Amino acid sequence: MLSAEIIAIGSELLTPRFQDSNSLYLTEQLNGIGIAVMMKSIVGDDENFLEDAVRHSLARTPVLITIGGLGPTEDDITRKIVARVLQRQLVLNGEILAKLQRRFKARGVEMPANNARQALVLTGSDILENNHGTAPGLWITAEKNHVILLPGPPSELKPMFEASCMPRLRDLAGGIALVQCMFRTAGLPESMLDARIAPIYTKYQNPETTILAKPGQVEVRLTARGKNREEAERLLKELADQIEHELNDFIFARSEQTLEEVVGMYLVMKGATISTAESCTGGMIAERLTDVPGSSRYFRSGLVCYSNESKMELAGIPPLLLEMQGAVSAEVARGLAEAIRVRAGTTIGVAVTGIAGPTGGSTEKPVGTVHIAVATPTGTEHRQFLFPGDRDKIRWQASQAALDMVRRELMKI
Ligand code: ATP
Ligand code: MG
Repeated sequence: MLSAEIIAIGSELLTPRFQDSNSLYLTEQLNGIGIAVMMKSIVGDDENFLEDAVRHSLARTPVLITIGGLGPTEDDITRKIVARVLQRQLVLNGEILAKLQRRFKARGVEMPANNARQALVLTGSDILENNHGTAPGLWITAEKNHVILLPGPPSELKPMFEASCMPRLRDLAGGIALVQCMFRTAGLPESMLDARIAPIYTKYQNPETTILAKPGQVEVRLTARGKNREEAERLLKELADQIEHELNDFIFARSEQTLEEVVGMYLVMKGATISTAESCTGGMIAERLTDVPGSSRYFRSGLVCYSNESKMELAGIPPLLLEMQGAVSAEVARGLAEAIRVRAGTTIGVAVTGIAGPTGGSTEKPVGTVHIAVATPTGTEHRQFLFPGDRDKIRWQASQAALDMVRRELMKI
C-alpha cells in the first residue's frame, strides 16, 4: 500500500485557536484511494524545524504533502525549504507572474512587490493551478519521492487537491479500491465486545478491523482493499456479515447516526411518543432527544426532578417510598417512569435516578450507581447500572443506557 505523510505549516496552527483541519480532509481523500497516511506533523514558520521535518519525511515516505506557507509574506517559507532539501533552484515563472498581475489588475489594485514571490517555482516542478486564490500549488517528482505543496486556506486547498492531485495519486496508488463499513454498538463494554468478535476478525488481514470505544458506545470499523470496488465489497461483506450476526441487537446503527437519532427514527416508525423524568442526568436525555430535528413529533415533556420534594410533588412518588428505598432505587425509578408516562400521556416514559458523584456515595450505593426505568403500554423495564468514571462520564453513560433501553423497548412494539 502506498504511504504518505502530511506536514501542516504555520505558527498559528500551534496556538490553541487554530486546528489543522486540512489534514483530516486530505487523509480521508487519500484513504479513499488506498493511500495510507503514516505520519502527520505540524511545524511553525521556522526554517530549521521545517527543513528537519521535510528531510526526515523524504527519507522514509514516498509521498509528502505540505500545507500552507505559500503566501507572499516573509514567513511563508515552504518553497524555499523544499528547494533547499531537494537541492533545486527557485526560478521565477513568467506565466504565473503574468497571471498574478492580471488578477490584481482585474481588482483594480497594483500588485505588491511581495506577491512576485508566489511566482517562484522549483526547477522541474509541475504547477497546480489555484482558481480560488493567488498561490499556485507545486508537484515535484524527485528520485524516490513525490512532494506536493498545497496552499493553507481550505477553500483553495480542496478544489486544487481534487482537480490536480487526486487523479495522479489514484494512478500512483495503482487503482486500489477501498471500502468501509461501521457498526455502532451500545450496552457492551469494549473488552466484552472484543472477546466476542476477535475470534472472527483476527482471521482476516483484509478487511482491517479497528475498534473505537467512547463512553457508552463502541464502534467497529472495517476497511477492505481490493483490485476493484467489487472485490473490496465482496471481502468486506464476508467479514461484516459475521460481525453483524455476532453483535446482533447490540448494534444500534450502521452509519454515523447517533443513538438519539435512532431512537427518534423508531418513535416515528412506530407512531409512538415519549416523555422523560430525570434526576441525576438533569435533563440530558431530554436535551439529546430534542437535539434531533423533527423531535416535536414524538417528544412531549421532560421533567427534571432533582430533589425529593420535586419527586413527590411533581411526579407523585409517595414520601414513604422515598424514605424506605431512598431516591436512588429501582422502586423510585419505576415510579418516575410510570408517573411521567401517565401525566404526559405518552407511549413511553423513561426515568433515571442515580449518584453521579463525586460525593453522595455509600457502600451499598457507590458513586456510579444508576437506576433506569422505561414504562411502556405493556409494563415497566428496570435496570441497575454501576458506571465507572467521573461525574461527566457517569451522567453521559446514564443517558446513553437510558436511550438504549428505550431503543430495545421500541423494537418490541
Ligand atoms: P496565503 O496565500 O493565503 O497566505 P498560504 O499557503 O501561505 O496561503 P497560510 O498562510 O499558511 O497559507 O495559511 C492561510 C490560512 O489558511 C490560515 O490562516 C488558516 O486559516 C488556513 N490554514 C492554513 N493551514 C491550515 C490547515 N492545516 N488546516 C486548516 N486551515 C489552515
Ligand atoms: Mg500565508
